[in-house]
Amino acid sequence: MSGDKKDKITKTIKTIRVDVDKCNGCRACEVICSAFHAAPKYSSNNPARSRIRIIREPIRDLYIPVYAGEYTVAECAGRDKYTIDGKEYDECAFCRASCPSRDEFKEPDSGLPLKCDMCEGEEEPLCVKWCIHDALILEEREEEVEEQEELEELEIGLGSLADRFGMQEILDAVARLSQKD
Ligand code: SF4
Ligand code: SF4
Repeated sequence: MSGDKKDKITKTIKTIRVDVDKCNGCRACEVICSAFHAAPKYSSNNPARSRIRIIREPIRDLYIPVYAGEYTVAECAGRDKYTIDGKEYDECAFCRASCPSRDEFKEPDSGLPLKCDMCEGEEEPLCVKWCIHDALILEEREEEVEEQEELEELEIGLGSLADRFGMQEILDAVARLSQKD
């Protein structure tokens, strides 16, 4: 019997449900997200720093919120192409990844990848709070996960970032973030 039995911990999984039909493209979510993540906090707002971005087609009254997801070291070989109501969107238009093949979801100053952190430390994600049209709805559920898995995820993520930017750049970014408050 192996001795590496892993402990289970309860993790709260937070999901933001996006109701595209309710989004009117006001971009309040982009504004508050970028202000929350400015350094110092709320010192500026620059939607390029936002972890959510709105794909806008005003003529069709179509607005689609997309959240920043995982960083990826290499662009994928298979690409997505969507056609909605007869309009063809750019390749990868709805992809959540911070990816070498495009500029979306990258910190404008440093080029570091951006990922939605659910406004860590806040009771409710700020984009949800600021979306007065209820296009963004927070949902929560409890799940049991193995403790080790979380550490492995963290190490894989840090390893990828170090490969791309170098360890010193990562340490400098962490130092900047820790001064935000
Ligand atoms: S705040 Fe809500 S309605 Fe406004 S752009 Fe964002 S998701 Fe859409
Ligand atoms: S949950 Fe917070 S970090 Fe994520 S997109 Fe919304 S405002 Fe930004």
